[in-house]
Amino acid sequence: MTEFELIRTYFASQSISRADVHIGIGDDAAFVTAPAGSQTVVTTDVLVAGIHFFEDIDPEALGHKSLAVNLSDLAACGAEPAWFLLNLTMPRTDEAWLRRFAEGMFALAQRYDVQLIGGDTSRGPLSIGITAIGAVPYGKGLLRSGAHEGDAIYVTGTLGDAALALAVRQGELSLGTAETVDLARRLERPAPRVAEGIALREVASSAIDISDGLLADLSHILQASGVGARVMLESIPLTPAYRTHLAAAGWDHALAGGDDYEICFTASPDRFASLNALAAERGFVFTRIGEIIEGEELDIRDRSGAPYSPRRRGHDHFG
Ligand code: ADP
Ligand code: MG
Repeated sequence: MTEFELIRTYFASQSISRADVHIGIGDDAAFVTAPAGSQTVVTTDVLVAGIHFFEDIDPEALGHKSLAVNLSDLAACGAEPAWFLLNLTMPRTDEAWLRRFAEGMFALAQRYDVQLIGGDTSRGPLSIGITAIGAVPYGKGLLRSGAHEGDAIYVTGTLGDAALALAVRQGELSLGTAETVDLARRLERPAPRVAEGIALREVASSAIDISDGLLADLSHILQASGVGARVMLESIPLTPAYRTHLAAAGWDHALAGGDDYEICFTASPDRFASLNALAAERGFVFTRIGEIIEGEELDIRDRSGAPYSPRRRGHDHFG
């Protein structure tokens, strides 16, 4: 199979075709029109075999995750996703693998009506680089820099399952089989909080997606906003599976584990009613985990008021 047959067969065959895409795959570059009155929001993330995923990962899950991590970045900016580009390097063309990879990627793309508009394909070590593009109404995007003293700190969903799955996989912890399967799903098939991010435009003062661990990512909000935070340890939302194993697993997977792809955001007290309404009407899960304080410390307290020190703070490729 030639490079062009491969692109045509697996990547140009997506069923989605958005009216705002004039030229997609097939020319030297894609031509698209952003919605009137919007700002274009662009993000990219690369997933490298052996670094971001195990080589034996189900290619369908990998296709899903490669797009999901990018949609998560757009979500954290309050952007509505529209298009994406795929840079794929792989050691050989394995058609069964490519089919499954494309299925996983396009199933998620379909769900959010995002169209693949181009990319590049080359021989090389297995790596997947996706660039996702979306839009926000002009000036309405969410940034890391808007948190103020007195704002509450929230997270969507639950934290730590992906890191727990990794710990199980690495033999640091052992759980029941059914739980292990559920956790592996959280690690391999994260659900980007696209709808939540868009809804939070009107409510949040700052936001970030949690990819490197809550503490590391919340720290980015604190630095960008010039504030500190107090986090209440026991208020961090965990799944029942995590809670069952909390004594053995400890809190650090939820505090410092990566790959959650939830959104951490802040909101001023005058937005609390809107947040509750959003949760009630749209079924969003927002949990208040602390508050923004003056200074620059990230202070974690347990129920008794004692400071809690995690053993690690988050993921750093070069740390
Ligand atoms: P060029 O040589 O002009 O850079 P390519 O031969 O790399 O073009 O690609 C041909 C067309 O196929 C382009 O429209 C490009 O965007 C698209 N394409 C290449 N690889 C991919 C891929 N992995 N996914 C989606 N589109 C791709
Ligand atoms: Mg090219």
